[in-house]
Amino acid sequence: MAIRADIELDAGPKTFASGLLIELIAALRRIRPGDLVAVVGPDRTVGSELEAWCRFTRNSLVDVTLEQGRYRWVIRSGEAPTEGDGEAPAEAHRPLGSRLWLYTNFDCNLRCDYCCVRSSPKAPRRALGSERVQRIAREAASLGVGEIFVTGGEPFLLGDIGDILTACAAAAPTTVLTNGMLLVERRLKILRALPRDRVTLQISLDSPTPARHDHHRGAGTWAKAWKGIERAQAEGFRVRLAATVATDAEAAEFRQFLDSRQISERDRVIRRIALRGFATQGVALARADLVPEITITADGVYWHPVGAEDADLLVTPDIFPLADAFAAARRALERERAHARRLATIFNCA
Ligand code: SF4
Repeated sequence: MAIRADIELDAGPKTFASGLLIELIAALRRIRPGDLVAVVGPDRTVGSELEAWCRFTRNSLVDVTLEQGRYRWVIRSGEAPTEGDGEAPAEAHRPLGSRLWLYTNFDCNLRCDYCCVRSSPKAPRRALGSERVQRIAREAASLGVGEIFVTGGEPFLLGDIGDILTACAAAAPTTVLTNGMLLVERRLKILRALPRDRVTLQISLDSPTPARHDHHRGAGTWAKAWKGIERAQAEGFRVRLAATVATDAEAAEFRQFLDSRQISERDRVIRRIALRGFATQGVALARADLVPEITITADGVYWHPVGAEDADLLVTPDIFPLADAFAAARRALERERAHARRLATIFNCA
């Protein structure tokens, strides 16, 4: 599904040198920071001009698609929105590779309308598999990985999720991201066998009451997620609640709910809907906006979990040896930083 833009600009045969740049600047002047302009045209070379221009001007090229011989480049006006008072968040200083993400399967029992990796019951399973995870866990331990995050789609759909989580937990403290709806019967047994001191559950709950959560995730899902939270807590697991929200007001409302339940700061995650995957609205994020967190899927190694099937965030298709994959991610980060340093020199013209 194409990302919805605020302005569609038909470039026709124009390039930067023959009038497109002027039209683009005029379009950006008509929108607000964070809004999107789509440039549509047949000339592939416009893409590299747009990318370079975006970097120089602190706008972002956030999506490229090709349909029936016409490219569509989507540009976000200005830099990505950040929360807080402008201080760099703690994760900006986290060493690359200290956290490792694993996408175990991609299929899911739900089809949330903002899912950033297009998971659903119809999504084909792309399984990392227990053997690969065991090798990743072994190699990760020697590479200084301090935390592992396991996500699905829904990981508890997998018959071997117990083996996968046990292997990860032996290498580093592990958090499994789940919608919490399947923690019954044999899956509850699998959960019970996991070490409480090494495994945390991060369960999605988007709102204090069912309406908004169910609107995004399906009727009756809030109630089932809540039961899952209670069940995991009753089993003695640390549970982190994770909300995906569309506005500051929704975030504030959820924060109030967590306060009223005395949920500690370390056990809460509140993030904005990202304009990736199924989402048609949300925060448009380019690679340069994201503090990288190495993310492994069956298809390779990605820059960040929020776009773990998007070509612009692929680092390398080769997972092993893991040390080489980590080195590739570090080289990619160094290239991003070199771009940023070069910009400072280019603008230092006085
Ligand atoms: S957001 Fe989570 S629960 Fe929803 S479809 Fe995606 S993976 Fe499944």
